[in-house]
Amino acid sequence: MQRRNVIVVGAGPVGTVAALACARLGLSVTLLEAQEQVDDSPRASTTQPPTLEILAELGLIDEYLRVGLIARTFQFWDRAKLELIAEFDFERLKGETAYPFVVQTEQHKLANMAIARLRSMPNADVRMGMRVAELVQQSGSVDVLCENDLKFTADYVIGADGGRSTVRKALDIEFEGYTWPERFLVVTTKFDFKAALGCCLRNYMADPQEWTNLFKVTGDDLKGRWRAVFNTREDETDEEALSDAAVRARLSRVYVPEAGRDYLHVNLYAVHQRVAKSFRKGRVLLCGDAAHVNNPIGGLGLNSGIHEAWDLAACLNRVFTDEDGSMLDSYEARRRPLNIKYVQEQTIANKKRLEERDPAQRARRFADLREIADDPRRHKEFLMRAALLERS
Ligand SMILES: Cc1cc2nc3c(=O)[nH]c(=O)nc-3n(C[C@H](O)[C@H](O)[C@H](O)COP(=O)(O)OP(=O)(O)OC[C@H]3O[C@@H](n4cnc5c(N)ncnc54)[C@H](O)[C@@H]3O)c2cc1C
Repeated sequence: MQRRNVIVVGAGPVGTVAALACARLGLSVTLLEAQEQVDDSPRASTTQPPTLEILAELGLIDEYLRVGLIARTFQFWDRAKLELIAEFDFERLKGETAYPFVVQTEQHKLANMAIARLRSMPNADVRMGMRVAELVQQSGSVDVLCENDLKFTADYVIGADGGRSTVRKALDIEFEGYTWPERFLVVTTKFDFKAALGCCLRNYMADPQEWTNLFKVTGDDLKGRWRAVFNTREDETDEEALSDAAVRARLSRVYVPEAGRDYLHVNLYAVHQRVAKSFRKGRVLLCGDAAHVNNPIGGLGLNSGIHEAWDLAACLNRVFTDEDGSMLDSYEARRRPLNIKYVQEQTIANKKRLEERDPAQRARRFADLREIADDPRRHKEFLMRAALLERS
């Protein structure tokens, strides 16, 4: 008899959404997470309209909106001159999506929300503190072996265990691409950039020496805080970038007065553009950062991972109900090129736009943004692509 069961490795936002989507389709789901708690380090904060549609289908949207900030617009600035270049307004997407805005909130809230739902479902089993070490594929099942010697068996396995994915490595799938020489520094502060600079909740500030992105998120206390993301210099050591003096100097360059330069957290991230050579091997499938990583400018990495998790749950359900194994090939055939075309290309273009050093080229990029923002058709097209709506 067919068991209809799936193991999901990794309880990040992508794994938890994949597990919840599978469980809601009636599949038996075991979610295995290495850590005892969901990782709450400051990473994704922007949830795009098609992702909000998925959260609505999963019954999470009301709770999600309660812990997030609705951001209708985003802005491009010339940081050196503190000049607004262009503003884009998601209201232009009315009719294309039920959610013509993004929600700004921390990614761990989504993972915790999905886990709470899974814990209330009889067909879902959440195991924290369960680090997967190895996979053994049989002809009709997969054995998943954990570091503590526990073994779990399922019909299919979803590897959603992040950029350093053990699952991807166990499958011996190459992670093609490159790592940028600079790192990204994220400073969390209570300084109110909107009040001080007149910017909005989501801002991209270009500068040939050092660009900055400014986002407001809610914080666990829902009182609101800001994240300022900067590039480091290529020759800057991690210690130097993380030093108090360097953090305060960076805040000063984004117009924070001395009295406002205290900060809550600082984190440094390596940044990559990589895509797994394959998203599937036999009965094991990859999604989220396990399948691809990209620079975070534009807020696309997690969003694309959630779209994959949703798509993959539907494909697995079809495999069980229609016994149509080709659905799994179609998952890879569809999702891998989509990631390359819309997520890798777009995030690389977003980074170039912020860091352009050639003055003439920089002026052209600003003029281009202004023209796009002023033309209703191009404004909408730009947003469709930026929000990952063009692809879905
Ligand atoms: C500074 C920054 C800002 C970002 N901003 C955005 C944004 O605004 N929008 C956006 O879309 N994306 C953004 N991203 C990207 C986003 O954070 C990632 O794409 C997202 O975390 C991917 O989720 P995931 O669930 O695939 O992987 P992860 O969040 O990495 O979760 C993987 C999980 O797997 C677990 N795990 C690992 N190994 C094992 C194992 N062997 N066994 C069991 N469990 C294991 C880990 O503990 C972890 O819980 C940003 C990233 C950074 C660094």
